[in-house]
Amino acid sequence: MNKRIGIIGSGTAGLQLAYSLKNDFDVTLLHYEEADDIRREKIRSTQVHFRPTRDREHRFHMPETDAAPSIKTIHFNMGQQKLFVGRLTGAATSVDQRMAYSNAMDDLAEQGVSLRKARVSRNEIKDLAESYDLLIDATGKSGPLLPFPVEAGLTPFDAPQRKCIVGYFTGVAPVEPVGISITVLPGVGEMFEIPALTEQGAVTILFIEALPEGMLDAFKGVRSAQEFEERMKSMLQENFPAIYGRVDPDHFALVDEAAFLQTAITPVIRRPYLMLNGTLVLGCGDSVFLADPITGQGCNTASYCAEQLYESLMAHKESPWDEEVGIDYWKRTRPYLAAVTEWTNAMTGPMPEHIVQMLMQAATDQQIADKVAHWFEKPSKAHEAFFQQTY
Ligand SMILES: Cc1cc2nc3c(=O)[nH]c(=O)nc-3n(C[C@H](O)[C@H](O)[C@H](O)COP(=O)(O)OP(=O)(O)OC[C@H]3O[C@@H](n4cnc5c(N)ncnc54)[C@H](O)[C@@H]3O)c2cc1C
Repeated sequence: MNKRIGIIGSGTAGLQLAYSLKNDFDVTLLHYEEADDIRREKIRSTQVHFRPTRDREHRFHMPETDAAPSIKTIHFNMGQQKLFVGRLTGAATSVDQRMAYSNAMDDLAEQGVSLRKARVSRNEIKDLAESYDLLIDATGKSGPLLPFPVEAGLTPFDAPQRKCIVGYFTGVAPVEPVGISITVLPGVGEMFEIPALTEQGAVTILFIEALPEGMLDAFKGVRSAQEFEERMKSMLQENFPAIYGRVDPDHFALVDEAAFLQTAITPVIRRPYLMLNGTLVLGCGDSVFLADPITGQGCNTASYCAEQLYESLMAHKESPWDEEVGIDYWKRTRPYLAAVTEWTNAMTGPMPEHIVQMLMQAATDQQIADKVAHWFEKPSKAHEAFFQQTY
């Protein structure tokens, strides 16, 4: 009999895990929203999947869409000055998670994977664990459901370093060549423009990372889509004139009433394994590896760790699943986690002087510009640049 795995949560981590594990194990995906409800809900992320993540999705035969804008570059602006356009090594995409998650859930159900609607509570997790050889907590930032211990060395903050303000807009012409555009306003925050696909078609995501109480932290009390649109328009006029120059006032609007969000994240990294009454429980994705989205790495980290979790389980396919498997999974993922976490946390602080110098050099040296773009595909390279000053 195949080993039984219960995956709690049908987000980036849970879905990739379900695809990768479904042919070798008896997988149940526990989720608390139906696919059709997700389609109508609020947006959740800006979800840029860089090339390594897309390669993993391809490896595990996850649904792909050709219609998503192909993100091939990173545009970098410091204040009002455009510095450079770095080239990614492969195309990235951003597909509205409402669309990607619901399509993947429908597809998994069609492929015979067991999907069970359940909002798992902390009280029932012990009973649930008895039904499985392994339980995976992929509950995202509302998790974890279990007390995975905090890794103090990778968890320096006890409060959010940014307010995250996101809207999916029509009526903003994308930058050329198509890519992500980053504008850093030192001391107050950042603006990210991201071309993305929604069920209603292509949009430009405007994503503000505001230092709390600073000039960009200007959306307090905004509740309705209309208020959000108005506030964003004046934000562009006042602080981002280059973006405002690409706005078509007749078509500037949120793509739907639910296409905006405000949140703030306190980053925390946890050791992702424990035993519960003899059953192994592993964590994957935001439930155990939660970061500020400033470097756009959360989905990419979830996908990387989900693949490593798959590799650990395949390596131990025929042996009992106990703490050894958890230790193996953590050994595989910790170096990546340390690099992406330390880089991401550093990005929320003042930019180190040698990084400012590097960005200035990138303005006249295409190779350096490409290296900076590459950071987002391979966070260990960013870590080397930030902490070993090698590039
Ligand atoms: C503003 C913002 C912008 C971002 N931009 C990017 C980006 O550009 N690139 C990037 O890589 N990352 C980005 N991220 C991070 C990224 O969205 C997350 O890291 C990623 O979605 C995590 O995937 P996950 O599967 O762990 O969690 P989620 O995608 O949150 O999925 C968790 C799922 O678990 C379900 N669930 C929760 N509790 C229970 C329960 N008790 N029982 C059953 N089901 C449950 C939820 O309903 C949800 O469907 C961004 C995040 C934010 C907030």
